[in-house]
Amino acid sequence: MAFPDPLKRVIKNLAALPGLGEKSATRLALYLLSRPRDEIKELAFSLLEMSQKVRLCRRCFNFAAEDLCPICQDPERDSSILCVVEDPASLSAIEKAGVYQGLYHVLHGVLSPRDGIGPKELRLPALFSRIEQENISEILIALSPTVAGEATASYLVQALKEFPIKITRLACGVPMGMDVKYADKLTLKRALEARQPF
Ligand SMILES: [Zn+2]
Repeated sequence: MAFPDPLKRVIKNLAALPGLGEKSATRLALYLLSRPRDEIKELAFSLLEMSQKVRLCRRCFNFAAEDLCPICQDPERDSSILCVVEDPASLSAIEKAGVYQGLYHVLHGVLSPRDGIGPKELRLPALFSRIEQENISEILIALSPTVAGEATASYLVQALKEFPIKITRLACGVPMGMDVKYADKLTLKRALEARQPF
């Protein structure tokens, strides 16, 4: 490559990121090279700061810059309901919908015996101790309706039977903007079962 070593180094580092091949890495590196020094400094420092400061919340395992994440620190949130999600990205998506006011519990994965991921590999023991220690009356299971997500949800329902709490799940239905005739059988079955009065 006809580029000098410092540029080649950035391209190599960017190309190692998921979703970026050599071509897009080169385009991105050349773009960054054209930006003012201050902007690059801010980008570099923000990456460093993120890697130094962001860890997992002691209580719900969401990302946090302190001991507790912003949601667990918020006294306005309803601490009697816990929403169980697979990862922080799912949590963020639910937050963006702007209607859920309870707390969360992030599993950091779903059960997958084939990959050696059992209950202990997830944050399930921590979930059970939270239910024992905190005053929780409802667990909302918000896992994706995939094979592994469904298996994890079933495991949870079984394991939570002994606790005197209400267990709910996200309703599954026909996605907004989708034509009913193109919906798959299982989606339609769930949507019909979860039908609501107008
Ligand atoms: Zn938290």
